[in-house]
Amino acid sequence: MMTIAGIIPVVKWLAKIKQRSDESCRLCKRAREQRGASIENLPEETYGHFNSAFCDEVATTVTAAQHFIWRHLYASMQAAQTPMSKLRFVTPDKESSMSTLWQEEEFTFKQICSRESLKEKAADIEKTIVVKEHERARYDFDPTMFYENRFWNRRLDGIVINKYHRTLYILEKRSSDRDKDFLRVKKDEANEQHGSIIEALRAAAPEWTSEQINFVAGRHGAVVEDDFYNKLEKINVQAGNRDKILLAHVHRICEAHDTAMRSYYQQIHGSSGADATTSIENIGEQVYV
Ligand SMILES: [Zn+2]
Repeated sequence: MMTIAGIIPVVKWLAKIKQRSDESCRLCKRAREQRGASIENLPEETYGHFNSAFCDEVATTVTAAQHFIWRHLYASMQAAQTPMSKLRFVTPDKESSMSTLWQEEEFTFKQICSRESLKEKAADIEKTIVVKEHERARYDFDPTMFYENRFWNRRLDGIVINKYHRTLYILEKRSSDRDKDFLRVKKDEANEQHGSIIEALRAAAPEWTSEQINFVAGRHGAVVEDDFYNKLEKINVQAGNRDKILLAHVHRICEAHDTAMRSYYQQIHGSSGADATTSIENIGEQVYV
């Protein structure tokens, strides 16, 4: 309820009610001090910040929660396929790169295009994507090899194939475009990963329909019902199971919030949940910091 009301006592909010002047994240500050890094330009401590993969101290918790939510959703969509569905869910584990996926699913992929042709098209696309600063040394060493490796090291959230209809869906978990807060993944990176793969597949297999489907978790865990149901229908999830899947999905998102909140409280106050109030300072009314 505090989340929805926008009154979680993060320093950004405490500054708003004139209880703090510095709005920078206490967790990031501590993490940087511990590793002897500069504490210049610290991010603001907002609710969205500590629920993202960008806050040093809670990133592991948040990332694990994202994987947990996605794995369950993916598995439940796979388990609830209509009896006539010809969709094949290729299940990448979270470490699966394109290269591993191709090895494991060679038979399936070879029905779509040859590895050579995908490699060739991927090289054209990779050349149009900026070389980042941390990639520079590898690029300078061998540009052709760099583009090739970058493509085959790209990772997918999920891929669903119907070889009879020649349809291929790349599934992606993401937070809402309008919401830069909740459970934010490094969106630009995710876009780039999936963008490069889908473009290369489209070019290498023009007779196939390749499409990207994004499963969006929005502000405070909101999932847009119509949008979610349309996507489940598209990938042949039985009508009778759709409510159940949505409910379980939203439930898990709420649990992830709870976990992130607890981790945050624990690290700020050395305690979590209700008993956190015993070890912290009461600044009046019901406000504890
Ligand atoms: Zn932080």
